[in-house]
This record gives sequence, C-alpha cells and structure tokens, in this order.
Amino acid sequence: MKLQEYRSKEILARHGVPMLAGETATTPAEARGAAERIGGPVVVKAQVLVGGRGKAGGVKLAASPEEAEARAGEIIGLDIKGVTVKTVLVAPAADIAKEFYLGLILDRAARAVTLIASPEGGVEIEETARTNPQAILRLPLHALIGLQPHNVRRASFFLGIPAELRRDFGAVLDGLHRAFVEADADLAEINPLVITDDGRLLALDAKIVLDDSALPRHPDLEDMRDLNEEEPSETAAREAGINFIKLDGSIGCMVNGAGLAMTTMDLVKLAGGEPANFLDIGGGAKADRVLAAFRIILDDPNVKAILVNIFGGITRGDEVARGIVEARAGLEREVPMVVRIVGTNAAEAAEILRQANLITATSLDDAAARAVAAASRASGATA
Ligand code: GDP
Ligand code: MN
Repeated sequence: MKLQEYRSKEILARHGVPMLAGETATTPAEARGAAERIGGPVVVKAQVLVGGRGKAGGVKLAASPEEAEARAGEIIGLDIKGVTVKTVLVAPAADIAKEFYLGLILDRAARAVTLIASPEGGVEIEETARTNPQAILRLPLHALIGLQPHNVRRASFFLGIPAELRRDFGAVLDGLHRAFVEADADLAEINPLVITDDGRLLALDAKIVLDDSALPRHPDLEDMRDLNEEEPSETAAREAGINFIKLDGSIGCMVNGAGLAMTTMDLVKLAGGEPANFLDIGGGAKADRVLAAFRIILDDPNVKAILVNIFGGITRGDEVARGIVEARAGLEREVPMVVRIVGTNAAEAAEILRQANLITATSLDDAAARAVAAASRASGATA
C-alpha cells in the first residue's frame, strides 16, 4: 500500500527526520487559511500517489496566502497521470542549495534491505538509473544488524555531505531506517533531501510503500489508506477477503488458489481470450464469498463471460456449486458462466450444476475454450 506524501512525512517525523511540517487542504480557501497560519512563503503540493508531480504542475511555490489560494485552485482538480487531485499539502517553502535522493528498499534479488543514495536528487531515481547510473550508490544492509555506522559514513561520503552536517545526516538515515523497519515497509524514500541556503538538512518529499501482507500488524497505518486512489472493485474485494486485481479483458475469472488463478489466466489467453481479472477466492469459500466475488466480477462492464475454476481440496466442490447457484439467483446482471469443479465432491457438484443448467467442463483447456467462445458470442450479440 502506497502512502501519500503527508502521511509518509508524519511517520518519518515521528522518527526524528527533520522537515517543515504543513497542513492539508481540500479547497483553495482552506489552503489560504493554512498559508496564513504558516506565515511566509509556502509550497502547495498535490497529494496523489504518482511520481513526477513537480513536472506535471502539481508542486507550486506561493509568496502569500492569496497566491497559495490561487495555486491551490490550479492544482485541485488537476489530472496527474490519470488521477484527479483532491487534496494539497501546504508547507513552508524551503530555499534549496542542494538536492539529494535517499531511500531504502526491500531488494528481493539482493535478499536485503538496500540503501540507495544519489547526489542527483529531485528527479525520479529511475531516470537517474537510466541516464547516469554511476551517480547512484546501492548498499545492501546486513540482514540481522540492519544499518551500521560504516553504511552511514559510506553514504555520507558518496553524497558529499559537508562535515558539519554529517551528524545530522546520520540522524536522518537512522530515522528513515527505523521508520522502514517499524512500519514493515517495502520502500521508504526522501526525494529530495535538501541542504537549505542556511545550511540545514530537510526532507522536502517523502514516499513510503507498505508491505500489504504485514498490514494486519499495523491498524494505525491501514487507516492511512487513500480510497480515492483505489479501484472501487479492489476495495470491495479487500473488504470481502478476496484477492482481486482488475485487468482489461472480457473473461471474468473466479478461482481458488493464487497459482491456479494464474494458470487459468494463462489458459484463457492461450484459448484466444483476455482475462478481465485475477481473482483468488481463497480456501473453504462459502456461498456469501462466492456471491461477493460474482458481484465484483460483474461490476466490470467489460465482462462478457465468467469462468469458474475450482479445485476441491479442503474446499468442497458441492458447497461451491450450491454457492454458485444461490449467488446467481441474486445477481443483477447475467452473463454466460462456465464452471469447472474437480476434486472433493466433484460428482455431487456436477449434479447440482447440471440441474441449474450451467455450462460445465471437466478439463481446464475445455473450460477456457468454452468461456472464450461464450464471451465472443456475447460481444457479437451486443455489438
Ligand atoms: P515530486 O515531483 O512528485 O517528486 O514532488 P517533490 O515534492 O519532490 O517536488 C518536486 C520539486 O519541487 C523538488 O525536487 C524541488 O525542486 C521543488 N520543491 C519542492 N518543495 C520545495 C520548496 O519548499 N522550495 C523550493 N524552492 N522548491 C521546492
Ligand atoms: Mn519528489
């Protein structure tokens, strides 16, 4: 889960990372009020979960509260890479002498939390990696000890931090590292970390990405989720305990098990179709979860057919079949449905499906082919 800049900054501030805290605003008038309270020049910043806000016109300086109101008026409602800005952060403006990049990521290939630093701050690190890779330091940290003093010295010298700021730099990096570990983050970055004209070190931008699997340990961080930037269907799925990712095709897939769901998508493609989603309904699914899954799938108007692929283990096939029949009766929209249930109680399941007049299949290839055929017939009929 990605956190907005102002949320990421909240977390880093708790760990002593120096910054100029601000206030969020959702209207130009609120932005003006915030600027009045802050006093002096401010920066108005779009709060959206995409990078490169500065280049897209989402970060603007304002010398007075009136200007802050005007800039906020320009930024709120702006479309940045497909996301409409709803909230801005108004913060005291800093005079920048030098910008750095400083980040920690969980590098799965290196099997280590890795420190990344660059004296070419401000721009996106991916761009620096392309244009000037030698300007980037990558330092895998010790898996058990974490950040060590020699790591801090190495980063500090690589960045050319002046001697009088090295102690402060150590505190920034240490705070970033503690925040990363404590929050179970996949990424925590400060870009830019700046030295101001008057010689202070400040975090001007922050981004934290949390490990979704660790979120149950952090109810306070879960509350920082921004539903404004989540697909509504993905929100509904998360609330129903269903693992769901929306895609662009026309074949809705309802599968138990992540591996089987991936295989099902592969076979849909092999049969000439495009999956509309990845959906893992999880183990031991009962009628209510089946119904929730159907609703989520059918909420997508692109879906022209549904392929249900269940491997009964602990999950009993007849229970899922009953769930499907029950759920179908409660659905607002009807599309052709191809069902394959194998494993525990498959025979009972087949009988229930047959009585309900559902298209069944035993082999997965056959099921995928039938679903693709049904979807193309349905698209042909509506075209
Ligand atoms: P991003 O483009 O989404 O990464 O947004 P940032 O918060 O990093 O802002 C982009 C750029 O705007 C920074 O690299 C700075 O150059 C500039 N910027 C941000 N805040 C300030 C500020 O307080 N003062 C000045 N002078 N520039 C700022
Ligand atoms: Mn930035």
